[in-house]
Amino acid sequence: MQLQELLYSQGFGTRRVCAGLVQQGWVKVDGVPVRDATQQVEAVEDLPFEVQGQAWRYHALAYVLLNKPAGTECSHKPSAWPSIYTLLPAPLRQRPARTALSGVQTIGRLDQDTTGLLLLSDDGQFIHRMASPKHHVPKVYEVQAKHPVSDEQIRKLCAGVVLDDDPAPVRAAAAERVAELHLRLTITEGKYHQVKRMVAAVGNRVEGLHRSRVGDLVLPEDLAPGQWRWLTPDEVEALR
Ligand code: URA
Repeated sequence: MQLQELLYSQGFGTRRVCAGLVQQGWVKVDGVPVRDATQQVEAVEDLPFEVQGQAWRYHALAYVLLNKPAGTECSHKPSAWPSIYTLLPAPLRQRPARTALSGVQTIGRLDQDTTGLLLLSDDGQFIHRMASPKHHVPKVYEVQAKHPVSDEQIRKLCAGVVLDDDPAPVRAAAAERVAELHLRLTITEGKYHQVKRMVAAVGNRVEGLHRSRVGDLVLPEDLAPGQWRWLTPDEVEALR
């Protein structure tokens, strides 16, 4: 692949901008400065390169994990709060559209006040699979409840509760009282406000909501709110 094409695919601007970056001497590949924008580069996963001092790595498809902070919206056009996309560096936000997708997007959404593990990608099949209720990807939520969590509430959550938009009951795949006001709830669908509505349906109320796990992927303890990182190939494989 030509170097200018590689930079374009990674979100560093139009092909013309990318060619200019190389010609100006602002690009290094694997530590070596390159000035010919048409130079062939082997686009191997994780190839390190640098653009205007910014270290980056080549990824044919983007798979990203973000620790979503409270007070952010999972939308390109947020209504009241900053978009989570503002937390990503420009190249990730500007990756060109792949197939029907417009660049990197969130896999499902978390509410404005929900924190924790959020996945983003520009791999349409991966997004579809992860978001589809048919694939039953478990999502684990740490619920801070307003009232003490009772055995009866846990029983009802696991037996199934009816929400206002669908007569078919939704069940928690697991529900565990971690502390008096801390419920750990695992669900496999991703309906609108699902956890808040399920908890309300059994007579309690969500005061705080944090997603700690999706599939086998646990939110890393060293990833502060607002920080992101690439998923490793093994992590992507485990989620597939
Ligand atoms: N369920 C909710 O109610 N809110 C979220 O953000 C995620 C799941």
